[in-house]
Formats: sequence, structure tokens, C-alpha cells
Amino acid sequence: MTVSLAKAHVGFIGLGIMGQHMAGHILAAGHTLRVYNRTHDKASALVEQGAYWCDSPAEVAADSDIVITMLGFPSDVEQVWLGEAGLIANAHHALLIDMTTSSPELAQRLASAATAAGHLALDAPVSGGDVGARDAKLSIMAGGEAAAFEAALPVLRLMGTNIVHIGPAGAGQHTKMSNQIVIASTIMGVCEGLAYARAAGLDAATVLQAIGGGAAGGFQLNVMGPRIIKGDFAPGFFIEHFLKDLGIALAEAERMNLPLPGLTLARRLYIELAEQGLARLGTQALFQHYVSGV
Ligand code: NAP
Repeated sequence: MTVSLAKAHVGFIGLGIMGQHMAGHILAAGHTLRVYNRTHDKASALVEQGAYWCDSPAEVAADSDIVITMLGFPSDVEQVWLGEAGLIANAHHALLIDMTTSSPELAQRLASAATAAGHLALDAPVSGGDVGARDAKLSIMAGGEAAAFEAALPVLRLMGTNIVHIGPAGAGQHTKMSNQIVIASTIMGVCEGLAYARAAGLDAATVLQAIGGGAAGGFQLNVMGPRIIKGDFAPGFFIEHFLKDLGIALAEAERMNLPLPGLTLARRLYIELAEQGLARLGTQALFQHYVSGV
């Protein structure tokens, strides 16, 4: 089967922090866009711009050549893809792309079920945060058959700049786990460095200016650092989603008999924050652990 983006009707399910922006880029590129989200209101801005609201994933799937999901948790993905009113049962020889951060095992299961039903499937999680989604500069790591990746490339290019086909189904999610393992230790380092600067009586913004352009620089220091200094702990990336990722990564690492002490510690600290009721803050709220002992 072939899916040509030129005339493709695109469906997008999951219009949260990331999905709203990603879907917006597809609409702005001139595609017919059908949308669905658990909370209806989050679709309002896109519908005002010309997207069509659908009442279920089934309705999105029935009239779309390409359907993209950007949901919260693997259980959400399982429901939207595999449920009776889901994508696999209701799409017609479509290209189905899951961009949620989810489990490699589920990605493989979805690909098998999608292929058996005559669809193409891709796991294509992303990195780059809310700013990457807003600016269409995401890194996209894809797993699936080459035909699915080739078919997906034009639509993925509307959302990202660094798009890599890693390997078979599940390889995109494994790569995303690798990404999250890097971030787990990095965000601890950023928070510790800024807590140290504050304890040393330095001006944190000046310290950031100095070290942000050196070897310590990177997304966590340069994007999250200023938010930490301002005391802005609003979610660009929910702690509850990061905990979901760290749990998947740790389970995979344990299955591989691979001890990862940095990942283990980060997960423990974030669990403590979640137990304090902070799970809906952004991941930069880890700083509170270092300065207030939360
Ligand atoms: P989010 O704001 O919670 O968005 C997820 C959206 O999916 C929500 O709007 C939610 O509906 C919707 N949803 C969940 N289950 C649904 C279902 N069964 N049917 C329809 N809609 C459903 O989260 P996000 O920050 O955009 O992140 C989305 C995914 O990308 C997560 O897996 C996250 O780990 C990953 N990610 C996030 C970032 C980031 O910086 N934010 C970066 C990379 C990857 P409601 O509106 O009702 O909640």
C-alpha cells in the first residue's frame, strides 16, 4: 500500500502540551485534519483554525489516511489503538503513527496487530520538549518497517528536524528510553549545580550565563535552568510522565541485567516528589528536592 501525503487526510489524537502544537503544524501545512481528545476543550483552538472534531478514535480513523497519536500513557495508547472503537479496527489501510512515549513491547504488539489488519505502523516518539513541539524542531526516533518510515517522513518533517529510522517496531521506543536515561542524570546534575551556586551565595542567572555556554550546556541547563531560577515549575513535561518513562526504562534495563544507578536514583527522587503531590508539575521541579528537601 502507498500513502501519499500530498492529498492525505490526517487524523491526530491527543491534543495536550505536545499534540496541540504538532497537530497545528499539520493543519498549517494545508492538510485536512481530524482531531479527537479526551477533554474536548483542548481541541477548540485547532477547530477554530479549521480542524474537524471527531467524537471518537473510530471516527478519526474511518476517514483518515494517516493517524497520529500523542497520548499520555501506554494504557491510553492501548485503548486508542486496540479498543473496539479504536484505530486498528476502524481505519482503512492507513498509516498509524504513535508518537507517545510508550513501551517497546507495546509498540511491537501494535505493529503486529496493525500489519495483520492491513495497515502500516510506526512508533515515533519525540524529544525536544514543549519548545521543540511549538517550533517544529523535534527529534523523532522511529521504529517500524522501512515502508512505514518512508510513508511517514513527509508528515514527520512538518513536526521535526532530526528524524531517524532506528530499526524495527519498538526500536523508536527503545531509543526514547535511552534519551530519558540521559535526561534522568542530566536534570539531577542541573539541579545540583544550581543548588550549589545558590548555597555559595552566587547569582544563579549569572552562573547560568557563564556555564550555559560551556561543556555543561544543553537543553536541560539552558531551557530548564532559567525556569528553575524564576521558580517556574509549570509543566513543559509532567513529572508523572517522566516517572512513567523511568519505570519503563528501568524495567527494560532489569530485563537486560543492566544496572543503571543514575536512573535508579532519579526515579527514587521523582517518586518522592510525586508522593508530595507534585506529579503534575514539570520535571524541573526536582530543584525543590535540593533546596527545600521535598
Ligand atoms: P499531555 O499534555 O497530558 O497530553 C496527552 C493528551 O492525550 C491529553 O490531552 C489527554 O487528554 C490525551 N489523551 C490521553 N488518553 C486519551 C484517550 N484515551 N483518548 C483521547 N485522548 C487521550 O502530555 P504531553 O506533555 O503532551 O505528552 C504526551 C506524550 O509525549 C507523553 O507520553 C509524554 O511522555 C511524551 N513527551 C512529552 C514531552 C514534553 O516535553 N511534554 C516531550 C517528549 C515526549 P486530556 O486532555 O483529557 O488529559
